[in-house]
Amino acid sequence: MVIIMLGAQGTGKGTIAGMISKQTAWPQIATGDIFRKNISEKTELGVEAEKYTSKGELVPDEITVPMVVDRLNQEDAKDGAILDGFPRTTAQAEKLDEILVKLGKKVDLVINLSTPKEELIDRMLTRRVCTNQECKTTYNIKLNPPKVEGVCDKCGAALKQREDDSNPEAINKRLKIYEEQTSPLVEYYKQKGVLRTEVVSESVNRMGKDVAEDIIKDIKK
Ligand code: ADP
Ligand code: ZN
Repeated sequence: MVIIMLGAQGTGKGTIAGMISKQTAWPQIATGDIFRKNISEKTELGVEAEKYTSKGELVPDEITVPMVVDRLNQEDAKDGAILDGFPRTTAQAEKLDEILVKLGKKVDLVINLSTPKEELIDRMLTRRVCTNQECKTTYNIKLNPPKVEGVCDKCGAALKQREDDSNPEAINKRLKIYEEQTSPLVEYYKQKGVLRTEVVSESVNRMGKDVAEDIIKDIKK
């Protein structure tokens, strides 16, 4: 089963994708995580990608698309995958359809997360990530703090704020790109009949964990 996580920055895509992945054994393929890993290892791809990620701009398709194809072709993705952060433009969505046809697959479910904008900005500012690239667990100092400040519960490595989360300009640019270039995908996948919209908000007391539990129940039916 191929699942896509859709929704603005800070809606909890990564958290939900991680929970579904754990229950299904389908890998979570997070393009942002793959870029950050390459950036920290200073690979050729990482050096090129950082020129864009540091400013909150999209990395060009010539770099992003082959990277996703490569990942989808790996053995662990043969039964399913949860795409987290791809596609982000209509062009990428069309590319993905072509790629999946070649693999004899299709997009089965698109989880569209919707959260009020004030909450999004707040969540990005309070997000912290584990610096251990094999772990990458995400915390939120207000909503989901680690047991010991600045230390990952799971692996003991240091937590840090993402560079693009500490920079208001990068935050605003990412949200703007989301609205302009990614949000049209809601309609794209609605047309295909695979869209499932979920509100994630403190104001209705429904958080990522609740959404993930409901979705996992439905997948297992
Ligand atoms: P966020 O969604 O909070 O911006 P991600 O971790 O998903 O964070 O992505 C971090 C950065 O990686 C993005 O700002 C962008 O520069 C790059 N990126 C991730 N996914 C894509 C994609 N599908 N296309 C182009 N660039 C991407
Ligand atoms: Zn960790």
